[in-house]
Amino acid sequence: MLTQIIGGICYSPEPLGQQDVWVAGQSVMALGNQDLRSSLVQQVDASDCYVVPGLVDSLAHIIGGGGEGGFRTRTTELKTADAIAAGVTTLVGVLGTDAITRTLTNLLAKAQAINEEGLTCYCHTGSYQIPAKTLFADTMDDLVLIDKFIGVGEVAIADHRSSQPTYQELARLASQARVGGMLSGKAGIVSVHVGPAAAGLELLWQVVAQSDIPRTQFYPTHINRNQSLLEQGWQWLQQGGWIDLTTSCTPEDLAQGEIKCAAALQQAWQRGLDLSRLTFSSDANASLPFFNAAGDFIGLGEGKIQSLYQEMVDAVRLGVPLEHALRAVTLNPATVLKLPHKGRLAVKADADILLIDKASLQLRAVMAKGRWLWSDGRVAVERSSLFFD
Ligand code: ZN
Repeated sequence: MLTQIIGGICYSPEPLGQQDVWVAGQSVMALGNQDLRSSLVQQVDASDCYVVPGLVDSLAHIIGGGGEGGFRTRTTELKTADAIAAGVTTLVGVLGTDAITRTLTNLLAKAQAINEEGLTCYCHTGSYQIPAKTLFADTMDDLVLIDKFIGVGEVAIADHRSSQPTYQELARLASQARVGGMLSGKAGIVSVHVGPAAAGLELLWQVVAQSDIPRTQFYPTHINRNQSLLEQGWQWLQQGGWIDLTTSCTPEDLAQGEIKCAAALQQAWQRGLDLSRLTFSSDANASLPFFNAAGDFIGLGEGKIQSLYQEMVDAVRLGVPLEHALRAVTLNPATVLKLPHKGRLAVKADADILLIDKASLQLRAVMAKGRWLWSDGRVAVERSSLFFD
């Protein structure tokens, strides 16, 4: 909406005399008495493009993660420029296996930096292990008192690196997250890292069966780790739960039976499953460690934020309709995270917009919160004000 306030005497508070004030979105765009309508419109030709919402990445290790092979294997921080060039305009930062040398305060500072650089970044409180790390007394306090916290996790289950939580511990954490979310109007979602152990989603089924916490409070991730876990995931989905698939995938992961996200979505599409509660996330900058049969560490990969866009495109190439591939990286994650202004191209939604080449499906331009942040040259991009000239 462009608003023109006409005829008033303006004070900046310095006296400016009679001026028209032009307002666009949240900003004053211009002051002036002449008709500025034509000069205030930037026209961008997108006739060869799809125009879609910016991607929502519900799990990124924005301050790095892991270190399962010792300190020298700690992974690096996410670079905001990489997220922008990958079309990710909203992301959720989490701690990982290491919640000792990586802290919630560091996570919040990095999320703030990403916001200052033009994207939208939230975080989860808590940690891989239970008791969950918190800044205040407990998870509920953190959710109610700290704006950027919208959920808890990722909490690890079915993994030798988890705290081997009992269902009571998980239920208690989920109830804290649920009430904290209610009081603060946030999702209060419990992000659950599901490891490779055969137990899979068992603990979640137990919590749902033996407490009155709804299934939708949980948001299990890495469900494409192997076909057996994926089958459990399809079951969980059919029972009304959310599932998240991880797009970062190394050749070693594939050798151990991981299903690429694109192929998993194709599977769900072909089986006629409800695709409205299925999401992709990148697991960016996570450590992706490999262990031999004896449980010894043998090597490590790193999650890549670019994989989110790539798997969406690959799913389309496998025959999944574009709207379903897009949903998994836009509307669906925004819905589970309770971010109604994100993940959709709609009136009053944030202007997080991608232009995607219709022929090649390559990314052509990225707008976040109304500013062009990246482009192949089609539009002028605002320069970062990070450094002085
Ligand atoms: Zn994880």
